[in-house]
Amino acid sequence: MLDVAAIRREFPTLQRRIGDHRLVYLDAAASAQTPRVVLDAMDRYYRTARSNVHRGVYPLAEEATAGYEAGRTALARLLGADPRGVVLTRNATEACNLVAYGYVRHHLRAGDAILSTVMEHHANMVPFWHAAQANDLELRHVPITSDGRLDLDAARELVADGRVRFAAFTHVSNVLGTINPVAELAGIVRAADPHAVVHVDGAQAAPHLPVDLSALDVDSYAVTGHKLCGPTGIGALVARPELLERMEPFMTGGEMIRDVTLDGATWNEIPHRFEAGTPMIAEAIGLGAAVGFLEDLGLDVVRAHEVELGGMFLAGLRDAAGVEVHGPTDMTDRGAAISFTVEGVHPHDIGAVLGDRGVCVRVGHHCCKPLMRELGASATVRASLHVHNDADDLEPLLEGISAARAMFARPAVPA
Ligand code: PLP
Repeated sequence: MLDVAAIRREFPTLQRRIGDHRLVYLDAAASAQTPRVVLDAMDRYYRTARSNVHRGVYPLAEEATAGYEAGRTALARLLGADPRGVVLTRNATEACNLVAYGYVRHHLRAGDAILSTVMEHHANMVPFWHAAQANDLELRHVPITSDGRLDLDAARELVADGRVRFAAFTHVSNVLGTINPVAELAGIVRAADPHAVVHVDGAQAAPHLPVDLSALDVDSYAVTGHKLCGPTGIGALVARPELLERMEPFMTGGEMIRDVTLDGATWNEIPHRFEAGTPMIAEAIGLGAAVGFLEDLGLDVVRAHEVELGGMFLAGLRDAAGVEVHGPTDMTDRGAAISFTVEGVHPHDIGAVLGDRGVCVRVGHHCCKPLMRELGASATVRASLHVHNDADDLEPLLEGISAARAMFARPAVPA
């Protein structure tokens, strides 16, 4: 069990008040807060080892390089991956673009198809749509069932002609909370084409669940540091080294070369081949500390905490007047990002009323416009939980929703 009171003390931002209200942070799915160990690790780098990486031979530079590489190995350990397959990027969006530019645009040809789903974040959708435009590829989308799960029978039909060479789908939906059956869907794709490459967006999974990439049988996995309690400006593409060996660099310049002549260049080893220029050094060091923070809590314990708390929030929201929850209703196959709408009140009004009461939720389309169209909503409210939340955070949420209804809900027009 997590000691949430002790964990909260580790997050300086959570000590803040908003007016007379305690800060109730229910937006970790957008960006998690940063614990002290991460702030301290980054501060230490700037104060004691500030220098560039992979170049200097003096102690400061060696320490900076060791810290940067420790961020990489920490992430590899967290996800059960080979550190040679971990490319540090700015965020998950850049990781998805790296696959789109480095693999899809170089290896897929006119007439090939890409399998995606209707529940993707724009980060895992637009780069592949863009690549499809460039290479004349066909895009196919797995639909969802009425309770927000992927329709795997439809997926089987979508790959049946053997033309799907690449698949990109999310592990956990940032809107519906659905935990997708990654290994099963990867198996469906590979049954139709054993050489197909499977890319998964793990932005909402890695911070909340134990993830073992070797068991999931995927080729690449995108994560983002700021949702993992790390700093902004760092993420990663965690790939099978064999896939990276087949990819073209996305950005070229310093650090990523083996040799340069006036006529050309040869590339550095993986993963450095994909890390052009001076990288995000403090951020990688902070990411390593964030991974350590989550590992110390235990990802299985984090998941158990979120299952229990998520169940409580789901029940509380479902019982609240006028509230409709979107996505699976059972915590066994959903994460703790809970989207809902409130009858007669715009999500932005709910968000503003909650915000004034110190309750931070996300409102809007959550960078999932196609999914919003599927749900028939222009926006939802999303409350999302992490290690610093507990049952005390539910009441302020429900009270704020009820206050917003009292303020904004239009009375039903008599028939
Ligand atoms: N994928 C999912 C499922 C997300 O929720 C997000 C961020 O909200 C992203 C990708 C993109 O993350 P970033 O903005 O850090 O690149």
